[in-house]
Amino acid sequence: MVIFEMDADLHLHTHFSDGTYAPEDLAQSALRLGIAALAVTDHDTVEACEPCEAACRGAGIEFVPGIELTTEWEGQELHFLGYGIDVRHRELLAELAQFQDVRQQRVREMIDRLNRLRIPLEADAVLALADCRSPGRPHIARALVQAGRCGSMDEAFDRYLKKGRPAWVPKRRMSAGDCIGLLHRTGGMAVLAHPGLYRPEAPYGMLAEAGLDGIECYHSKHDGRMVHQFRAIAERHRWLITGGSDCHGDSKGRPVMGTVRLPYEHFVALKNRLPAARARFAWPAETQATRD
Ligand code: AMP
Ligand code: FE
Ligand code: FE
Ligand code: ZN
Repeated sequence: MVIFEMDADLHLHTHFSDGTYAPEDLAQSALRLGIAALAVTDHDTVEACEPCEAACRGAGIEFVPGIELTTEWEGQELHFLGYGIDVRHRELLAELAQFQDVRQQRVREMIDRLNRLRIPLEADAVLALADCRSPGRPHIARALVQAGRCGSMDEAFDRYLKKGRPAWVPKRRMSAGDCIGLLHRTGGMAVLAHPGLYRPEAPYGMLAEAGLDGIECYHSKHDGRMVHQFRAIAERHRWLITGGSDCHGDSKGRPVMGTVRLPYEHFVALKNRLPAARARFAWPAETQATRD
């Protein structure tokens, strides 16, 4: 008897934010890698969701719309993944438009800082190269590598772009509680992204009170011990267990799709909770107006 192991990858980026794949590439890669379900989770944009859903439908892959949002807690960034959100929800789209404007302005500020360091990048050229509404530091890192100023993306981050380095500018961030509330109002679920990356560790008690729905136990930066530890935390709070590769494309040394696999049963648990999440808030009337 052949037993097919089914997996999901619920953390993926596209060229609509700082990834390099098109939404259609994700569906094709999933097919090739034997991944049965995926979610696209770009930073501050849901533009990839509809094309990715169509491509997944064509390829026989299950799909959940998603997003990755940045929040602030005690001076550090906490990232949240939203799943099952209404990608045409008016309040969500208005909020994202603001985040995107600030990101574009921030790229200009970071490039100003590089110019002051006598690195002659042009903001318009970098934004044209990024070619997306939600640009970020990886686009600047790629431009630095292309211009021969850095040997790799890692070097660009280490020398210029990491927090505390000379070209770093903070992002617009909301509070964790506001983020969870927003994701709930759009009919989605809020999941804490890559908890293994936070020092000090995330405030689980506060997040439970704010209504967190899950934590990302499987991630390319988590080792086996961390997966075990985060699964125990999830069980204690009755949170969903999620996971994904956080793949941004094929860039050297960066996580790639297929390297982290969420056992399919956890995807089923997430899917089963979607109707209750949707029922938490009745769709506001104005949402309907944007659905035509
Ligand atoms: P931003 O959203 O503009 O603050 O940029 C953060 C993004 O940079 C993260 O989502 C990662 O995708 C990416 N990133 C962080 N460190 C590195 C690195 N060393 N090399 C390439 N990409 C990185
Ligand atoms: Fe990213
Ligand atoms: Fe993240
Ligand atoms: Zn991510």
